[in-house]
Amino acid sequence: MENILQENLWKVKQRISDACRRSGRKEEEVTLIAVSKTKPVQMLDAVYQAGVREFGENKVQELCEKYDMLPSDIHWHMIGHLQRNKVRQVVGKACLIHSVDSIRLAEQIEAEAKKINCTVPILVEVNAAEEESKFGITLSETEAFIRKIALFPHISVKGLMTIAPFVENPEDNRIYFHNLKQLCVDINHKNIDNVYMDILSMGMTNDYEIAIEEGATHVRVGTGIFGERIYQ
Ligand SMILES: *Cc1c(COP(=O)(O)O)cnc(C)c1O
Repeated sequence: MENILQENLWKVKQRISDACRRSGRKEEEVTLIAVSKTKPVQMLDAVYQAGVREFGENKVQELCEKYDMLPSDIHWHMIGHLQRNKVRQVVGKACLIHSVDSIRLAEQIEAEAKKINCTVPILVEVNAAEEESKFGITLSETEAFIRKIALFPHISVKGLMTIAPFVENPEDNRIYFHNLKQLCVDINHKNIDNVYMDILSMGMTNDYEIAIEEGATHVRVGTGIFGERIYQ
């Protein structure tokens, strides 16, 4: 198992490096997040042994369980839809919450962060393709939304995240990645206090190379590293 995971990881890193070269970017600009949801800690540990320190989970309970079982130098990314009643458990554990998509959720994060006197780095989730089935706010709502969240003293807005449509041909998602990058640059130019749009979390196993070509700083790769997921 270790060998397969290491080989998968090596291939993903190679493709990230190739995508960087094609688009004239530095490899250090792109962070690989190993999306480990549904996978047992033994598999995470194997990937950890191979040098990975960034892991992504989409459920609070699973993130917290793995947090307790694995080394403390891991950075845990909360990438899934977050319910307000679960915020308390994840604040202080997740290094970055990728999925902020409502003012009510931001208010809850603010309240919990204040209690333990920390600042929570977050990304705003944008539904770049405006799919019915997806969480996230629209491109046109994003700036106004960020201006509101920027007023919360215990939240730090770091950038944008999107989950692109599931497509046969990843090239079809290029336009969404391109639009998100453009929006990020536009908002950065507004110089809003407490807003630093340094992070663009986009690209999954199927389309991370395209996302890198369009400016992703964080790619979230699950299947490409750990293999297919089996849901019970
Ligand atoms: C599951 C998941 C991923 C990883 O998906 P793969 O296609 O397995 O790489 C990335 N981002 C989010 C938000 C996810 O829920």
